[in-house]
Amino acid sequence: MASLSLKNVCKKYPNGFEAVKDFNLEVEDKEFIIFVGPSGCGKSTTLRMIAGLEEISSGELSIDGRVVNDVEPKDRDIAMVFQNYALYPHMTVFDNMAFGLKLRKVPKDEIKKKVEEAAKILDLEKLLDRKPKALSGGQRQRVAMGRAIVRNPKVFLMDEPLSNLDAKLRVQMRSEISALHHRLGATIIYVTHDQTEAMTLGTRIVVLKDGVIQQVDSPIKLYNEPDNLFVAGFIGSPQMNFVDAQCVVEGDKVTLKFDKFSAVLPPAKAKKLIDGGYAGKTVILGIRPEDISDSQIEVETFKSSLIEADVTGYELLGAEVLLYFQIGGANFTAKVDSRTPARMGDHVRFAFDPSKIHVFDKETELTIT
Ligand code: ATP
Repeated sequence: MASLSLKNVCKKYPNGFEAVKDFNLEVEDKEFIIFVGPSGCGKSTTLRMIAGLEEISSGELSIDGRVVNDVEPKDRDIAMVFQNYALYPHMTVFDNMAFGLKLRKVPKDEIKKKVEEAAKILDLEKLLDRKPKALSGGQRQRVAMGRAIVRNPKVFLMDEPLSNLDAKLRVQMRSEISALHHRLGATIIYVTHDQTEAMTLGTRIVVLKDGVIQQVDSPIKLYNEPDNLFVAGFIGSPQMNFVDAQCVVEGDKVTLKFDKFSAVLPPAKAKKLIDGGYAGKTVILGIRPEDISDSQIEVETFKSSLIEADVTGYELLGAEVLLYFQIGGANFTAKVDSRTPARMGDHVRFAFDPSKIHVFDKETELTIT
């Protein structure tokens, strides 16, 4: 397995469009790296440059310390798994998995050993004689994985490998891929636009927007400490609530006021706003739906951040329920315990712990605290 380094990598397509701008990333051995971001942000382009399927316009790509910009895809020791599996319909599972090795003139005995090993890892042993059309979507996906595994590559690249599967199978395959990563001790780079997939699989996540890296961090750090408004809104579901707020400073006390409501910031957060010169300015207040509560205890505890509003939407998820409401024209969502008595149309008192507040600069959209 291997390390990988991208230095100032850019991709400019022949039509002049810059799909990837100054991409810098060091991937360590055995990492599970996720590229995540909205459609068109440059995830696949970056992955394809690593695979060698797309030329790098400028910058440097190294695998295990060796610059590979001009190395042919087949000589990069990388295996790619695509979303459409790309299996050969006329070949059996065994032959599909063996195909790449046969091309490389690997001896027959060795091919058999490697395919059988991979089939065991992927629980495909009983299906080796079947053709792809006699397999389920999840089984086909496992064959596509198997084809990559038998090559024992330095790096696995996966481009939305689960996007063709139904919701239930996706969840199942997600945990299978995670287990596979541990079993193989492989370096994996995985593209998805699904943030749940990103959060559950990645050791580190690269969040991309318009070809530019927004943040590279562990899932928990991205969730708790997003660097900017975009990352804050992209990571977490339902997305973080945002509202314009007035920053009112009285001595050491900082209050964020929005509509007829206000929240007093804890000292550490207050200091960041005072030091940053935000007194009297408009900032963006962010609070996650799961950090807003309608429980009596929280409402009593966090009196300084009380919100009263009419519930305009009610969505039962199971253990939790989403309550929708509006404040001064801004839409809010609260994710609360489904035992709540609150229903559509009710006037409800909500509160949140002010230490859970995120504050962003309105112009730069960078995180203040
Ligand atoms: P998705 O999630 O929709 O697959 P992505 O993040 O993988 O999106 P890319 O496929 O990397 O996005 O594309 C990045 C940008 O580059 C897009 O705006 C796309 O239209 C553009 N692009 C892709 N291929 C070409 C090309 N051959 N010529 C010009 N522009 C291209």
